[in-house]
Amino acid sequence: IVVVGAGVAGLGAATRLKELGFTDLTVVEASDTVGGRVKVWVDTGAQYIHGASVENPIYCLLNTSGLLSQVPPDEGSTVYYRRDGQRLSEDLADRVYEAGEGIFRQRGNNSGRSLGEHFAEAAQAFVEGWQAEEKKSVQGVLALVGKDYLINIAASDLHRVSVDSWQYYTNMGDDLNVECMFQMVEKLAEDVPKERLLLNKAVSKIEWDGSFSGTDSQVYPVRVLCGDGGEILADHVIVTVSLCLKAQAASLFSPSLPAEKMEVIDKLSFGNIAKIFLEYEEAFWESDVSRISLIWDDDSVESVSTNKTQWLKHVSLFTVMKPQEFGNILIGWCPGDVADLIETMTEEELSSAITEHLRIFTNLNIPPPKSVLQTRWRRNNFTHGSYTYIPVGVDGQVMDVLAQPLVGIKNPSKDLQVLFSGEATIKTQYSTVQGALLSGHRDAERLAQLYGRTAPPAVHCNNHT
Ligand SMILES: Cc1cc2nc3c(=O)[nH]c(=O)nc-3n(C[C@H](O)[C@H](O)[C@H](O)COP(=O)(O)OP(=O)(O)OC[C@H]3O[C@@H](n4cnc5c(N)ncnc54)[C@H](O)[C@@H]3O)c2cc1C
Repeated sequence: IVVVGAGVAGLGAATRLKELGFTDLTVVEASDTVGGRVKVWVDTGAQYIHGASVENPIYCLLNTSGLLSQVPPDEGSTVYYRRDGQRLSEDLADRVYEAGEGIFRQRGNNSGRSLGEHFAEAAQAFVEGWQAEEKKSVQGVLALVGKDYLINIAASDLHRVSVDSWQYYTNMGDDLNVECMFQMVEKLAEDVPKERLLLNKAVSKIEWDGSFSGTDSQVYPVRVLCGDGGEILADHVIVTVSLCLKAQAASLFSPSLPAEKMEVIDKLSFGNIAKIFLEYEEAFWESDVSRISLIWDDDSVESVSTNKTQWLKHVSLFTVMKPQEFGNILIGWCPGDVADLIETMTEEELSSAITEHLRIFTNLNIPPPKSVLQTRWRRNNFTHGSYTYIPVGVDGQVMDVLAQPLVGIKNPSKDLQVLFSGEATIKTQYSTVQGALLSGHRDAERLAQLYGRTAPPAVHCNNHT
């Protein structure tokens, strides 16, 4: 069995296959590290558990490995700055922010519409209920909620996102900022034998539905060709590459993928977000602060979308990095095509623009950061973005089509030749780390079923205290 990709889906598939007694297994990873969109050494990708409860296998993995005990129990507070350098009353801002989040949670009977339409309507109605002198601030905070939501979904425009996006999604509970996902990935990788994990090895072609003779005199239906000239013959391949398949799909498979799968790849959207790590000699924020939010009074709730010519308007959320051993670090966040734009900038350009920006809002003479690190997920040849979202007019069920294994025509007896895991293949948990893990487990269990092996129970855990 070959697993393509050592992100969470690939590692999840490999470790589950091992638990199920499969030993002839190779994981092939294009980059020089495991972890994919989590990454190892710091969370340049995922850092929140979306749904921190015992139902969530990522929560369980972090908990059973003791990593949750290092997560501070207190989330901390948010400070809100306006463009005139004044702080907005936290009481008012928190109340409005919570109401804005409620609008996204209660999407009601709006089927077929965009999230943008739903938000504009409900947010406008909410603003109407406030006194004239408060309306601007209320509108500014609500627009901020919309912009933060764009980051959650990695999109550029709420009007392009389907309000039905979460109709199949299982909500496992509240979010928890852990900032130790990379350690969880390291632990997962420890369960894959080193000699079975091949890094710096990009797969260039997957030939399936064939008859390839191995040196062991066996005939295999699949041949995996690598960029370094190597090849691996297999009975089964689990492909976990991201929806960047959009870029690879045409050339990666021979025979090509079925038209209905190509159609789904085309229909789903693959967004982007940027994280900008700013390291300061000293913290200029108070010790209990976990988020700094910048409010633009002229932002509208009617059209929450990015505008690249005013890109700084979309660098309005900064979170304080919790693990103190990393230093005094703020993480700036931005979504969609602004994230794409930021990837083209140098660290010096970002440093000076953001310093100026923060000085205006906070009215403090903030020194430039001593170091800057920006993510470049769109430019990464093996991810091409951050995660999947469902655009207006697309039903999340299409993810089931993406998850469907390939059936051979010449070789129908060789079942489950190519399987597809990864966050974009699981409509109940897409775009998340647990979705990636569960999709890997799903495909390992498909193979177990084919060979009549029974699956041991998945990880169990108790609540973190
Ligand atoms: C900035 C950012 C923030 C995020 N925040 C969160 C969060 O807070 N919480 C959360 O739950 N989720 C979050 N996510 C989403 C989460 O990280 C992903 O859903 C999840 O990690 C996807 O895992 P995967 O295994 O499906 O794909 P990937 O992690 O993309 O793994 C696929 C692997 O395949 C490799 N690969 C690609 N092509 C080839 C090839 N041709 N040959 C060999 N190998 C190849 C890639 O290098 C990669 O390692 C975030 C993502 C990003 C980018």
